Amino acid sequence: MKKVYGAYLCTGCGIGEVLDVDGLKEAASETGVEMKEHACLCGAEGRAFIESDIKSAGVNTVVVCACSPRVMQPEFDFGKETITVRGNLREQVAWTGSLTEEGEVDEFLQEMGTDYVRMAVTRAQKTELPEPYLLETISKKILVMGGGIAGITAATEAAKAGYEVTIVEKDAQLGGKALGWRKMFPTTYPYNALEEPNIEAMIAAVEADSKITVKTSCEVARIGGSPGQFNVTLKEAGTKGEWDAPAKVTADEQDLINKGELEDPNAGMVKYTELNPEGEIYGAVVLATGWKPADVSEYEHLGYGKLNNVVTNAEFEKLAKNGKVPARVAFIQSPGGKENDKDFPYCNSVTSMVALKQANYVVEDNEDGQAYILYQHMRTPGNAELYYKGMQAQDGVFMTKASVTQVAESGSGLVVSAADTLLGDDLELEVDMVVLAAGMIPTTADENTINLAYRQGPAFLDLDLFDGYADSHFICFPYETRRTGVYTCGGVRKAETMEETMDDATGAALKAIQCIESANRGVAVHPRSGDQTYPDFFFSRCTQCKRCTEECPFGALDDDEKGTPLPNPTRCRRCGTCMGACPERIINFADYSIDMIGSMVKSIEVPDDDEDKLRVAVFVCENDAYPAIDMSGMHRNKMNTLVRFIPVRCLGSVNMVWIKDAMSSGMDGALLLGCKYGDDYQCHFVKGSEIASRRMDNIGETLGSLGLEPERCAVREIAISDYDKVPGIIDEFVEEIIEMGPNPFKGF
Ligand code: SF4
Ligand code: SF4
Repeated sequence: MKKVYGAYLCTGCGIGEVLDVDGLKEAASETGVEMKEHACLCGAEGRAFIESDIKSAGVNTVVVCACSPRVMQPEFDFGKETITVRGNLREQVAWTGSLTEEGEVDEFLQEMGTDYVRMAVTRAQKTELPEPYLLETISKKILVMGGGIAGITAATEAAKAGYEVTIVEKDAQLGGKALGWRKMFPTTYPYNALEEPNIEAMIAAVEADSKITVKTSCEVARIGGSPGQFNVTLKEAGTKGEWDAPAKVTADEQDLINKGELEDPNAGMVKYTELNPEGEIYGAVVLATGWKPADVSEYEHLGYGKLNNVVTNAEFEKLAKNGKVPARVAFIQSPGGKENDKDFPYCNSVTSMVALKQANYVVEDNEDGQAYILYQHMRTPGNAELYYKGMQAQDGVFMTKASVTQVAESGSGLVVSAADTLLGDDLELEVDMVVLAAGMIPTTADENTINLAYRQGPAFLDLDLFDGYADSHFICFPYETRRTGVYTCGGVRKAETMEETMDDATGAALKAIQCIESANRGVAVHPRSGDQTYPDFFFSRCTQCKRCTEECPFGALDDDEKGTPLPNPTRCRRCGTCMGACPERIINFADYSIDMIGSMVKSIEVPDDDEDKLRVAVFVCENDAYPAIDMSGMHRNKMNTLVRFIPVRCLGSVNMVWIKDAMSSGMDGALLLGCKYGDDYQCHFVKGSEIASRRMDNIGETLGSLGLEPERCAVREIAISDYDKVPGIIDEFVEEIIEMGPNPFKGF
């Protein structure tokens, strides 16, 4: 497309009050584009002002220097055929400074503004109109793995929306664990009465639904392809095949296996016959494989596995479903002993609620029933609190915070000893049965549930870092996993009641639909919803180093025998981590490229003769850091005028050549500002900020070898809620640079 530029400066919202408008316009024309001004570009008149140039002068590349690109998006949307680039002069310049005491324009603030104008014009010059990636054929069918309450609900909801669904269930019948539950938690006001499960009716509805196909006694053997065209083969339930990820075995365990003292979890890994070798094509996958009870046998003082009548909550529910429960039962919610304040692993609000429900069975089944709930923490969120209160008032139900010290046999029954109770006294309870609150472990924690035919392997990666949950971002993107097109719900996503699971499964079904429809339009599904760009590889310069295939957080890239990447654009989240990784700098997007950001960095003016005007390039992640800086501006926090913010898709997309560009153009420091990583990770692209941190360590070494202080280049983590801390973080880094003095290569 032959570009015709139109650049527009808004002087409203205080921009024209603190900045020299003519100076800003001059900066644009020096960069090659004439700029017009308007007092309120986002108003109807302002928009018409731009639109008239589009119509009459054929402008197709619009530069708007005004407010943050995060706001007024419809106002500055001129259609898919027009490139629009926004320069942030309001939140990140005008609102972060003021006139001098003498009422003059602050030259430092003005220089900041002119640099942002130059960067915006440069960005427009380097941006191309994206062309969406469209699959030749697309399947809109949804595969649901797991036929429990989550899978059944997801299938029903997707079918209601008009989509065909196949449920694959490993058991011989649908229903999963819900078939064994005697009662459901209350779902209606006043939330004080347990309800009859409705699982049978739900199964009957699924079986009668012409849009839903049910395949029982089988499991997924292999999922190849990508959203819109996943190719799925099935295998007989329980068989292990060459594509299943082998179970992890420690050295000690291997030793025991070799001695024949431990069963080899990988025994039986033989080639199976796929039930449908050609495969069947699906658009998206809902993973509803549920949870399993955590092992509680390690708590020897509680006697599980050794004493009769010490059972888990799941085992007690089966008893209750099939008949009358014993009259005196202790429900132990926390292991006690040395682990005093801790709960059993994977305990949660559901296990608290289950104890209340099962205590209810005890008094329901026995006229003189006595249920004792011994806890460290009871969690009854939302309306469950009303049920909790009702049970506190229930005759025969006793609850106390307590540390259980021992469970022992006593005659034909059991005796539970507990200390540190709410009453202050130690307790000895004579009971018929002890129920331990075993937590709910997602099936993804230690099984290869998914069997993907991906270059990065068949399972979700690094799950031990996230307690076995497969989410790509637990807070911001529920249902989404680290494999685009695969959405989790129910117990495999988080511990949930049956009622919560139904809501959850509806969400996952909608996500699956959104994914299919996005793939159909050739746009990203999330988190950059609607993004038409995707990474473009200049393969003739690829050295097959495999960094892109290894570092992609979403397994979007496969490769051939030589190691040349094989992109799968519908798996891609458009994070740019591959672009940041590529040493040959041959991965680019239509509107985000190595050349574009490098040129923006070079468009920043670096005074080489003024020690008061050091310059620091700050690459900011658009997900948390950039909005935090905007919010800081909205709170009118002052911002250090020596820094220049350059938005990036994710810190993972920062190619180290940009840092070199910054330092070689005389800048005095470079900072990466992005999401937290590690245990408390917030990175929208899972590990972009972590990868960037590693790369920066390496560049520090390079700087050191050139005689520059490695500390001139650093990474700082920030959450979106840290907006008031941003100026302090920036000031602190700039102070460090000032102490080091100007870049010694400045001017060379
Ligand atoms: S842009 Fe991100 S998700 Fe897409 S291929 Fe590159 S690293 Fe993977
Ligand atoms: S990182 Fe770049 S050079 Fe390396 S394999 Fe990927 S595209 Fe090729």
